[in-house]
Amino acid sequence: MSIAENVARIRAQIAQAALECGRDPREIKLCAATKMNDGEAVRQAIAAGVDCCGENRVQELTAKLKENAYQGAPVHFIGHLQTNKVRQVVGKVDLIQSVDSLRLLQAIQQEAGKQGIVQDILLEVNIGGEESKWGFAPEEVLPVVEKAGVFTNICIKGLMAIPPISHNSGENLKFFQKMFQLTVDIRNKITDNVIVDCLSMGMSDDFPDAIRCGSTMVRVGTGIFGARDYANVSSKTM
Ligand SMILES: *Cc1c(COP(=O)(O)O)cnc(C)c1O
Repeated sequence: MSIAENVARIRAQIAQAALECGRDPREIKLCAATKMNDGEAVRQAIAAGVDCCGENRVQELTAKLKENAYQGAPVHFIGHLQTNKVRQVVGKVDLIQSVDSLRLLQAIQQEAGKQGIVQDILLEVNIGGEESKWGFAPEEVLPVVEKAGVFTNICIKGLMAIPPISHNSGENLKFFQKMFQLTVDIRNKITDNVIVDCLSMGMSDDFPDAIRCGSTMVRVGTGIFGARDYANVSSKTM
């Protein structure tokens, strides 16, 4: 199947999952997870109408920005970002979805301040408590949000999560539900530069469940571009 056909199929599945739980499908953004796919594939996904692209690695982001691969769609950063690489990402992407530590938050603040911009971000939550994953522990999220006022050049738009890999449908529901509850908890304590409209969760294998639990953005790679070749990639860089 072509990328355009895949995007159309995913859109239909998003709409179905949304309607089944009484949600408006337009509330749910489709982010194409573009890692390990080239500029041409990215252009096809954008032409097929994905809402945004999500890139995992700074090197790939920089290369695709250079060839204008994301033209026509917002670009997000969704991979682990090292503090020494923030300069290559801050101000270059519309949203950094994967802010996974206070140190990174501080580095982004410093760089955004230097550039005189406000960088939109999501806080990444390690909702499964996995050793192999980056992210704030669920109980760390509220304290960080309460401190958001000191990050004058950052706007926290919401939360992002990558739950444990599941092989059975429904297995991740409890994690998705926990994420939704976290956004509710934050909304109850809303502060000035925190909006938490965005709940980014759900990937190729589990996005319908994520939508049933309140996801507003699904990040789909394989479902749009086909399988990736992981032979040369270490698991913690994804
Ligand atoms: C690769 C990736 C995805 C998409 O995964 P698929 O299973 O291929 O849909 C989503 N989010 C992040 C952060 C990723 O790295």
